[in-house]
Amino acid sequence: MNFKSIYKEAKNKIQGIAAAPGIVIGKVYLFTKEKLEVSDGEITDVEEARQSLEDAVKQSKKELTKVFSIAREKMGETRAAIFEAQMMILDDPVLLETIEKRIENEKKLPEFIVYDEITKYQDIMRHSTESYIKERAHDIEDIKNRIIRNLQKKRWQSKIIRDSIVVSDMLTPADTLLLSRSNVRGFVMDHGGLTSHAAIISRSLNIPAVIGTHDITKHVKEDDTIIVDGFHGYVLINPTDEQIKFFSEKSEHLVQLQKGLDEFKDKPAITTDGREIKLYANVDVSGEIDIVVTSGANGIGLYRTEQILEEMSEFPTEDEQVSIYSNLSSRIYPNILTVRAFDIGGDKFKLLEFFEANPFLGLRGIRLLLENLTLFKIQIRAVLRSSQNKNVQLMLPMVSTMAEIKKSKEIIEECKSELKKEKHSFDKHIKIGIMVEVPAAAVMTKEFSREVDFLSVGTNDLIQYLMAVDRGNDLVSNLYQEFSPAVIRTLHHIVTEGNKSGKEISFCGEMAADTLAIPLLVGLGYKSLSMSPATIPYAKRIIRSLNYDYTKKLAKECVDCCTETEITHKLEKFFKDHSITRTRQII
Ligand code: PEP
Ligand code: MG
Repeated sequence: MNFKSIYKEAKNKIQGIAAAPGIVIGKVYLFTKEKLEVSDGEITDVEEARQSLEDAVKQSKKELTKVFSIAREKMGETRAAIFEAQMMILDDPVLLETIEKRIENEKKLPEFIVYDEITKYQDIMRHSTESYIKERAHDIEDIKNRIIRNLQKKRWQSKIIRDSIVVSDMLTPADTLLLSRSNVRGFVMDHGGLTSHAAIISRSLNIPAVIGTHDITKHVKEDDTIIVDGFHGYVLINPTDEQIKFFSEKSEHLVQLQKGLDEFKDKPAITTDGREIKLYANVDVSGEIDIVVTSGANGIGLYRTEQILEEMSEFPTEDEQVSIYSNLSSRIYPNILTVRAFDIGGDKFKLLEFFEANPFLGLRGIRLLLENLTLFKIQIRAVLRSSQNKNVQLMLPMVSTMAEIKKSKEIIEECKSELKKEKHSFDKHIKIGIMVEVPAAAVMTKEFSREVDFLSVGTNDLIQYLMAVDRGNDLVSNLYQEFSPAVIRTLHHIVTEGNKSGKEISFCGEMAADTLAIPLLVGLGYKSLSMSPATIPYAKRIIRSLNYDYTKKLAKECVDCCTETEITHKLEKFFKDHSITRTRQII
């Protein structure tokens, strides 16, 4: 029995989005918020209404200050900023003045004006094409309800049964955080997307979550038992004995694994015959830095800076970027921080509102940066100014031509001269690298590697461009093959040609975290792998049980294969023959 067969047969399953990893079995606590009724009754005393608005805003601020301090303690400064942003809305003079003026002119109860005015803002946000902005409309709902609740002098329910799984229509960031103090074991929400703050908070608090279940609140009752699978995005309602047995074992296995992995933290990833593989972390949000530090990573192999835009929903200034990068570089010092220039476009943060028929083949990554030099230069200057510790390097995404490399290098030199004139200090020998994620770059590895200090292979994109298969399209997902011979031969070509130049050839696609792929990548000659920090101990465990000579032989055989099946069979057989446990096969 495996996950696939369990879910295929299960009649009691509800599918959602896997928002925070982990498996939990527990009792449902249905968290339904009392619906706030808003009256548009007339008022006679404007002064009294104004006073009660002022009191309600004051009380809301007090509550949010408390939430903010809990958030800082539990999630760190960066993530807690969500609540700081909410507090700023309460300080927005334009909003408050508009509400006051409307109370005066329309002589309606403040709760109605607050409701109406803030709903107007939300409607604009909900119609945005950016999922990030749409999600923020939910956060504002929290502020709106908070003020209205305080105007009506009602209290917020925060006491729930300890150790339960909270099932709700939608939770605000504050709900998620405050409920977690009752030792909530998991979250299930009918609404919300991966970028919703409730999802982000669950991930940072390490509480498994499935969201976007549409109508689970209609299918479960208080005290029902459910299984939440935050790896695959499923919830099983009142599970069968067989399901409970399967998931209890998986969850126990996870706990044991976690314990067993701690011992690898301070050990190098070295094969039994002495070849060291450097393991780096892929970082999406700066808040993950704590996990990076504790995972025993050799540094950050990929910092996806476009995530800053997702979080802030606007472009950070040069100084703001300097502060983010410098902070990361100091936290990780003397290890290396690889800052990747904004990879905007494709399915990621969109800068421009115009329609692109094929955004993945459009104005994305370095192409967009070279068209928007002001933006690019601000980022280059910020990276340079953060490089004083000499542990920062800059990487360019989506490179496909030599001209892009040469032009980027020219701009970097230009930024260096400007900073020199302005008397800013920076690392004069900062390393510049490129992502190899477009087949053209793979083919040109030899020539491109002469121009830069390092290369990093991005299989997430490379596979989709090589196989001509959209990585998000279900209809062709069977063709998105990591182990296609075409992919393996390309990876072989890159590392062989790249190694000849003596430059560092790194690997930062998700494939590096696939335990099945690790012996193959090591055998092909990759000496540095970058992956999500949580997977580093798993990779270390595998590498420490490999013999490099055997992996070389395995890689050679795989390069000669003609089908994906042949390759995966060889890899599975390798694990069996050498009695290596694929510790991450649980997910
Ligand atoms: C990749 O394409 O493999 C990669 C690491 O970049 P991203 O997933 O950010 O596109
Ligand atoms: Mg990519």
